[in-house]
Amino acid sequence: MSFQDKSLQCSDCGATFTFNVEEQEFFQSKGYTNEPKRCPSCRQARKSQRYGDSSYRSNRQMFPAVCAECGKDTEVPFEPRGDKPVYCSDCYRKIRLSR
Ligand SMILES: [Zn+2]
Ligand SMILES: [Zn+2]
Repeated sequence: MSFQDKSLQCSDCGATFTFNVEEQEFFQSKGYTNEPKRCPSCRQARKSQRYGDSSYRSNRQMFPAVCAECGKDTEVPFEPRGDKPVYCSDCYRKIRLSR
């Protein structure tokens, strides 16, 4: 199995970039069968976007729960396990302030 440098076009910015032998070997060692679709700088930009603060917050999974204080349906950012009371945001604020 021998590799050769390949010229690929970035699907994001349209720039031509080289998918070089080392990267092809790396891809194969990881079991990837697809060629990269984006140039290194767009890949980098995507990565930092994905791990950026705002996307982390919006992608956070919410779990349905019932408030132990007022009985209202609410959502919490962790899975309720039943060993701790779960509060809606209003009650949570009240309880935290009263402590
Ligand atoms: Zn690009
Ligand atoms: Zn409540």
